[in-house]
Amino acid sequence: ERTRAATAPVTPGRLADGTPVPLLANLGSAAAAAEAIALGAEGVGLFRTEFLFLDADRAPGITEQQAQYEKLLAAFPGRKVVVRVLDAGADKPLSFLNDAAEENPALGLRGIRALRRTEAILREQLTALAAADAVTNADLQVMAPMIATVEETRYFTALANELGVKTAGVMIEVPSAALLAERVLGACDFASIGTNDLTQYTMAADRLLGTVANLQDPWHPAVLQLIAEVGRAGRATGKPVGICGEAAADPLLAVVLVGLGATSLSMSPSALADVRASLARYGPDDAHAIARAALAAEGAAEAKQAARAVAESAI
Ligand code: PEP
Ligand code: MG
Repeated sequence: ERTRAATAPVTPGRLADGTPVPLLANLGSAAAAAEAIALGAEGVGLFRTEFLFLDADRAPGITEQQAQYEKLLAAFPGRKVVVRVLDAGADKPLSFLNDAAEENPALGLRGIRALRRTEAILREQLTALAAADAVTNADLQVMAPMIATVEETRYFTALANELGVKTAGVMIEVPSAALLAERVLGACDFASIGTNDLTQYTMAADRLLGTVANLQDPWHPAVLQLIAEVGRAGRATGKPVGICGEAAADPLLAVVLVGLGATSLSMSPSALADVRASLARYGPDDAHAIARAALAAEGAAEAKQAARAVAESAI
């Protein structure tokens, strides 16, 4: 009995009525894939490539990168694997991409801004990803971090396609991109909301600073309102809108996010079981009602309380 339970396939993420909500893993190395699969990850929603190179003092070469990406993609045959190009800067500085002298690195040359200034590194990474994709059979999707404008979205998707990446999207983690989500989605294939940075930039609260941690809370209705705008844009354009920030790992907030229009959720693999169980308790109408209650609240604590009250009356 025990052996059977341990090897039983984990059911995919879905709402009570069967509406699928793919539950994906946030990973920082290919070695972490096996555990994520054992915990029921249906694919990868965020592969943080900068984690592969935090200690490097020069940009990694194409061959070296391709080997890492092949290992990752080979672990997920037929599955979606969303790889993020290097998100260097602020909390994740890379010596070969960032300028250590910046006074406000979270507002500086980070993410796509740093890659664009050093385009050869971005070109090599996209080339390595396309080459790894060509010899494996996962559904590779590549996304850019810290997108702030529609023009940056066009720049990234054009370059990715030129170098052989078929599916290119962007992270929405800067409020400007959330506000223009419909135009951003019009210029790429999908969006994935990074709630960690979206909260940091919406609330103007450093995500690394304990003294402002009360503001670094994705339950704040201002953050939820921006997410709702992205969800609306997803429906309007017919493009997928995932979530890959920590918010997706909170079982009740996960229901709110789906109610706001998220089509998949990506999280640390250890959170998958609780989120899967929570989603299965509510239908789409419940999720909308729970999300509406949170959106209408005054602050983060009230939003959580209001969501909980509606959720309890729904089951
Ligand atoms: C985010 O900002 O929410 C995110 C998923 O990316 P990271 O935490 O790596 O900045
Ligand atoms: Mg981020």
